[in-house]
Amino acid sequence: MTTEPDLDPDDFGFADPATDQSFENALAKARDGIRLSVDDATELLATGTATDGIDPVRKEAVLELADRRRAELVGDEVTFVANLNNNVTTACNTGCLFCNFKDSAHAFEADSDVDHAGFTKTPAESRAIVDDALEMGIYEVCSVSGLHPALALNADHHERLAAHDDPASTVNYKPPEAYATDPGTYVDQIEAMSVDGVHLHSMTPEEAYHARRGTDWSYEAVYRELADAGLDSAPGTAAEILVDEVRDVICPGKIRTDDWVTAMEGAMAAGLDTTSTMMYGHVETVEHRATHLGVIRDLQDRTGGITEFVPLSFIHQNTPLYRQGVVDGGPSRDEDELVVAVARLFLDNVEHVQASWVKSGDAHGLKLLNCGADDFMGTILSEEITKRAGGQHGEYRSFDDYVEMITAIGRTPVERSTDYRTRRRIDPDDGPHGPLLGPRADGSPMLPGDDADEPGAGSAPADD
Ligand code: SF4
Repeated sequence: MTTEPDLDPDDFGFADPATDQSFENALAKARDGIRLSVDDATELLATGTATDGIDPVRKEAVLELADRRRAELVGDEVTFVANLNNNVTTACNTGCLFCNFKDSAHAFEADSDVDHAGFTKTPAESRAIVDDALEMGIYEVCSVSGLHPALALNADHHERLAAHDDPASTVNYKPPEAYATDPGTYVDQIEAMSVDGVHLHSMTPEEAYHARRGTDWSYEAVYRELADAGLDSAPGTAAEILVDEVRDVICPGKIRTDDWVTAMEGAMAAGLDTTSTMMYGHVETVEHRATHLGVIRDLQDRTGGITEFVPLSFIHQNTPLYRQGVVDGGPSRDEDELVVAVARLFLDNVEHVQASWVKSGDAHGLKLLNCGADDFMGTILSEEITKRAGGQHGEYRSFDDYVEMITAIGRTPVERSTDYRTRRRIDPDDGPHGPLLGPRADGSPMLPGDDADEPGAGSAPADD
């Protein structure tokens, strides 16, 4: 059960963007390979702020340039990873207005009689799910969860949180005994999921904040402890739009932009690779999107640890923003294409840009691969986030599907590791196809028949 505040759509408007740059100048800079400014990116995303709407001719010029840049930088390969989503819990009190993944944590309490469709997994359950998926050949486990009030970094953190006055309201903490299912600690969950050298991709900046709440621990120290427990890389989700005036309205309970950046720096200082994301197409303007890209590029200039940029097209159905009339839909396909293209042109220090079949569907996902993207996500043995938000495309994706789709657009399918450092070009004629990079992968198709809807490997949701 989710409670949500009453929203007034009039509170969510931002002024139309305007810059001192022209679309033509911005495009010329991109063509000449000159580093783009935020104003340049704003103009390209808008196909000119001086006129309303997206100009189709200008849009094609941007897409073409981005596709050419992609070909020059990373060639014709389209990568994907054999992965599993195993998310630990849907319990969360943060109340982000774009999210329908979470369930009010109160409903999970041992004495609650509130019906809910969410779940919390014990560490043993997480381990069993990963173990099964390893047999199917996965390389990576991706795990992003709600901010369950009983989740703490470790036993010491439990003690510190419990020592606060009124910890439920001051540090969002209740002891595990208060809940029907004990999720264990973050360290317990990471250790449990770290089976046989599988790559564990988990702990967003928001989760890292939750794992240090009520203490003065640094993000780096938290990530180091998690890395010691088996964490291999951290997703740069929970970013949404990295502009505080947008965060103030869509996710006021989340960390601010500065804190998000500090958390990412902490993860990379602890030796972890990260990814970067942007969830767009809700209340923000193109100027906010461009500013967000600027935050990512600056962070990468300082750290160099971001492996990819993942645009997350806002799925509006079933979210408070849509239910209450603040937005009347998500981004258009034109906007999706321009975000991918401008990310490719603007983020000159991030090598890989992802296209999403989960958010966009197969046909449009393939189109995005011709707008500057070179990565096509993963097999996702379980994908629940997008389905819960009303999306239609969150299903398992087989290797044979991947090979067929990627070769259909004249590109080369490549199985990759999470960090892109290990890559295997796949011969389309040598099917049926299956993963080879995972610890137990042997090239067999991941599932019998390989086109199953849900493998039963442990459905779960994620943060963004
Ligand atoms: S986006 Fe994440 S933090 Fe926000 S409500 Fe959803 S699960 Fe909670």
